[in-house]
Amino acid sequence: MPEGLYGGIKLKIKTKTTYVCEICGEEYSEIDTALKCESRGAKTPKYAIGDIVTILSGEGSGKSAKITGVFYYSPSWAGERYAHHVGYNADLIDHGGSRQLIEGESV
Ligand SMILES: [Zn+2]
Repeated sequence: MPEGLYGGIKLKIKTKTTYVCEICGEEYSEIDTALKCESRGAKTPKYAIGDIVTILSGEGSGKSAKITGVFYYSPSWAGERYAHHVGYNADLIDHGGSRQLIEGESV
């Protein structure tokens, strides 16, 4: 194991490999679980940055919002049920604040 000096203190350096799902960005210590995550696939997002949408449920329901970001939910963040669902960051129009919207549920 390599060693290094940090602020005059000798430390051993241990490098840890992680495998990252290229869709949702989730990190895994095992390649198999990372491949399993990627095998969920990715739906093409219905909306793009700049699109104006109507919020269908939750806070701001019935109001318009402008998409400011598009992403895929990771299982550790959103749970298995929403893993790889398309998510949007959106700013509410004519109402302060922003929201995260799940395609097929809130938008
Ligand atoms: Zn993933």
